[in-house]
Amino acid sequence: MIKQTAGRNGLGDLAPKFAELNDDVLFGEVWSREDKLSLRDRSVITVVALISKGITDSSLRYHIQNARNHGVTKTEMVEIITHIAFYVGWPNAWAVFPMVREAYADEATDAPSDSLFGLGEPNDAFSQYFTGKSYLKPLNTKGVGAYNVTFEPGCRNNWHIHHAGGQVLLCTDGEGWYQEWNEQARKLHPGDVVYIAPEVKHWHGASKDEWFTHIALEIPAPGASNEWLEPVDDEQYGRL
Ligand code: MN
Repeated sequence: MIKQTAGRNGLGDLAPKFAELNDDVLFGEVWSREDKLSLRDRSVITVVALISKGITDSSLRYHIQNARNHGVTKTEMVEIITHIAFYVGWPNAWAVFPMVREAYADEATDAPSDSLFGLGEPNDAFSQYFTGKSYLKPLNTKGVGAYNVTFEPGCRNNWHIHHAGGQVLLCTDGEGWYQEWNEQARKLHPGDVVYIAPEVKHWHGASKDEWFTHIALEIPAPGASNEWLEPVDDEQYGRL
């Protein structure tokens, strides 16, 4: 059950019954019905309801922050407001964007917070072999190595070769690219699977405008190793 104290904190002295209804009924009984509708969805519809009524005060500020806390990314929030602007009124949308900027101000990059296996940590160990920022979450290191890799928009790894073993990519989020040397790049979407044979020179990464996440399975083989080569040319990547 959700613990809410905003009502009692703000109005407990003036309107104790209202405060109780706010904290115990609205939040304690309605918001808490997460088996019926997720907090993420409740956050979104609440933000939309407030904007559509032109309520752009501290309660909207709270609910935008709440939406972020429940996994709504900055990109999604901007898209929500862009979409509803046509229905609720253009000036309402204008009024809200500064609040969105403020609510997400400490977020350097709008990393997806709702990816299936989680974002993991900044991929510092391999950053020398990447253009742009990536995140790594080891999922399994026994038998078959399985690594969740998330690329920010524009991020990709250098050309590289998996010696002996090869690699399988299971695409789970966003939009990305895979390219083998002297071949056309292949666009990747969630659900796509890429088999990378050993000794094939290739790279993988995000598209210019979208985040991308895949699980990389390292195919075990005696003497398996990775050889990192030159970065993917900016101009070549830019033409994709
Ligand atoms: Mn690879």
